[in-house]
Amino acid sequence: MSDAILVVNAGSSSIKFSVFLDRGEDRAIEHLLSGQLEGVTTEPRFSARDAAGTLIAEQRWTQPLGHDGAIEHMDGFLREPLSVHRLAAVGHRVVHGGLAFSAPVRPTPAIVEQLEQLIPLAPLHQPHNLALIKTLLANHPTLPQVACFDTAFHRGQAEVAQAFALPLVITERGVRRYGFHGLSYEYVARVLPDYDARAAQGRTVVLHLGNGSSACAIADGRSVASTMGFTAVDGLPMGTRCGNLDPGVLLYLMDEMKMDACAIEKLIYKESGLLGVSGVSSDMRTLLESAEPRAQFAIELFVYRIARELGSLAAALGGLDALIFTAGIGENSAPIRERVCLAAAWLGVTLDPAANNAARGAARISTADSQTAAWVIPTNEELMIARDTRNLLGRIP
Ligand code: ADP
Repeated sequence: MSDAILVVNAGSSSIKFSVFLDRGEDRAIEHLLSGQLEGVTTEPRFSARDAAGTLIAEQRWTQPLGHDGAIEHMDGFLREPLSVHRLAAVGHRVVHGGLAFSAPVRPTPAIVEQLEQLIPLAPLHQPHNLALIKTLLANHPTLPQVACFDTAFHRGQAEVAQAFALPLVITERGVRRYGFHGLSYEYVARVLPDYDARAAQGRTVVLHLGNGSSACAIADGRSVASTMGFTAVDGLPMGTRCGNLDPGVLLYLMDEMKMDACAIEKLIYKESGLLGVSGVSSDMRTLLESAEPRAQFAIELFVYRIARELGSLAAALGGLDALIFTAGIGENSAPIRERVCLAAAWLGVTLDPAANNAARGAARISTADSQTAAWVIPTNEELMIARDTRNLLGRIP
């Protein structure tokens, strides 16, 4: 029997979870299984895989389960695998920690209340993250829980990197750049010394390219600047989010097209990005295979925006020692990596095309004499949360 750590990420329409086994201080945390329930408010789909990626459970429904129903299903599914282990702690991904939380924390009712104040800053995720913590606090008060924040890694950025050029009274209300994907960046920063000691102590830009995409400048393991700002819609174009947008566009949409906040939110979060530009799909694989000129233009715009942000982040760092690709597109798409690296040649990146095409898992994809190294390093936000949970709780009681 081992201590099990359950890691949960409750989103607006999905619940993802992983179970890790804590074999003791001197041994690594071991991945046991992962599962997800998607479309919980429409037509739910459940699947779970073991650590080797083999499908171990699958189910579909034609009626919505809701978040409570989804949690009940997860609970029921976990009963059997957890029957031979001891559920020792639950680690939660919480999207927003605001200004107050720059590290993981054990949530108490008072802390949950404090985190609820941040719901207007992340309305799609924060309420669901907190609802599960509250349910567990009420039903299992002795079960240790840890909240890990997607914003925490960026809290150490200089004031100038966090500020908008807005009047102080607005900034003081919390309108500032928070940056997200922090758990992914922190994971990559922590494992980087295993691959490239020079980069780990130097200036690195990590490109987290998935359905949600962002980039982060990291110096000596610490976040210096990031492309996501007040919300996770800023920065790079994403699957369905527009990224960087002249605020004047929003005024035009309101005044001339009579769109209200709700319609604009739908436009910039759900109907833009790769999907909106291509009119074909939000999925990079589909776009890469498409002969539609708009699909190819969406890819061109995606790469162009990455290249420009890369220049901006390199400027924030005062140079660049390494460029790192991670997340779904970054880890799996050699053509996108190639195009980004070619656009980054002026920053000293010389791609090794054979290494790039052959990359599976962590791999160096720049030539041996490249002035700036380029790497693929798979991210693992769930493992980051499991480690944070174990570290915060020490030897779990
Ligand atoms: P999320 O942000 O939801 O965690 P992921 O990190 O899983 O998303 O990334 C999903 C994206 O990765 C999708 O656009 C998908 O098309 C892309 N992707 C996954 N595999 C490949 C591949 N082999 N080639 C190109 N894109 C890929």
